[in-house]
Amino acid sequence: MINPDHALAHLMDLLAVEGPTGKETKVIQALSKKLLSAGCKKTWIKTDDAHQRLGEGFEVGNLIIKLPGTIKAPRIMFSAHMDTVPLCKGAVPIIKGNRILSEGNTGLGGDDRAGCAAIVSMVETLLKNKIPHPPITLLFPIAEENGLHGSRMARLPDLGNPVMGFNLDGQEPNEIVIGAMSAIRWKVEIKGISTHAGLEPHKGISAGLIGSKAMAMIAEKGYFGKINKGNRSGTSNLGSVSGGEASNQVMDQCTMTGECRSHSPAFLDQIVKVHKDSFETAAKSVTNDAGTCGKVKFATIADYRAFKLKKSEPCVKIASKAVEAVGLEPNPLIMDAGLDANNFNEKGLPTVTLGCGSHNFHQIKEYVDIKEYLTACEILLTIAEYCGDTHS
Ligand SMILES: [Zn+2]
Repeated sequence: MINPDHALAHLMDLLAVEGPTGKETKVIQALSKKLLSAGCKKTWIKTDDAHQRLGEGFEVGNLIIKLPGTIKAPRIMFSAHMDTVPLCKGAVPIIKGNRILSEGNTGLGGDDRAGCAAIVSMVETLLKNKIPHPPITLLFPIAEENGLHGSRMARLPDLGNPVMGFNLDGQEPNEIVIGAMSAIRWKVEIKGISTHAGLEPHKGISAGLIGSKAMAMIAEKGYFGKINKGNRSGTSNLGSVSGGEASNQVMDQCTMTGECRSHSPAFLDQIVKVHKDSFETAAKSVTNDAGTCGKVKFATIADYRAFKLKKSEPCVKIASKAVEAVGLEPNPLIMDAGLDANNFNEKGLPTVTLGCGSHNFHQIKEYVDIKEYLTACEILLTIAEYCGDTHS
């Protein structure tokens, strides 16, 4: 049913549009133009105020299109993020055999323009062929790549309160992501006392020493890098360290940032607690000759919550049935990373994430497998048809 030439043209066009995180205006223009010529009405297309609520550095909100249903059924949602990673700046897509690659030394941006293009192709096919369908919301979030910001800011009433979601942001078209992990970023500000490193080091308190001791403690307790404690697991990372001014001056301040992840929200809290306790213990243990110790301010930013959908969840069942309908074996997966779907599930909108033929995300070797992409388009169309078939 999907016209492969149209679907491929949509993808090639969208891959050529620049839209790094926070600067998605051109992508909104390109998508709106395509959806209008696919048969969407101008009044169906809106953007929300996500960028204003996020603050500086975000130029535009999430793109939301609400298609009325041609039959009475609960509203469903399809989503794919608009932004691409900085590596994709200046990408020129070219076709080589069954693959789309970037011509130069850039990423391609198939993550997630393949998802955007698959949704456009599905809608075009639905509307042009007058296929019966339920009310459908299309959500194209901004700023997924640096922390799932757009989807976090999306509000269910603005989306028309859909009952289930199908997010496109993966690889093979038979992939159905039914779970993903929680992540928390942390930042610690360490305060010491600055003195001359040669004349009076004993009067100073080194913030660098506090940070080093804390990290060593975390690692000794088994909470650095890959973490395995019985049947509970997670990861932790120290991402950045900055502090100090000169080598002859005791370091009086140091800021460190990092992140922790786990599929278990309770274990994630435990990992974060070990980090906080270790910095506090390390600060108390570093004193000067007057007995004064250092200070730390440990802060966390909750990034996203883990989720796991049951196999009996309608969005999982419908996605599986659609994958089978195109002759593939459904592959339910739990991801070791966060997705826009984490935010939708947290808001109470059960959402699976499907693959759309993109591979080697965030690399110069990134490519889209054309056959897989076209299969993903068919799967989306099948999902829309199933949700519009009141007899199924
Ligand atoms: Zn993505």
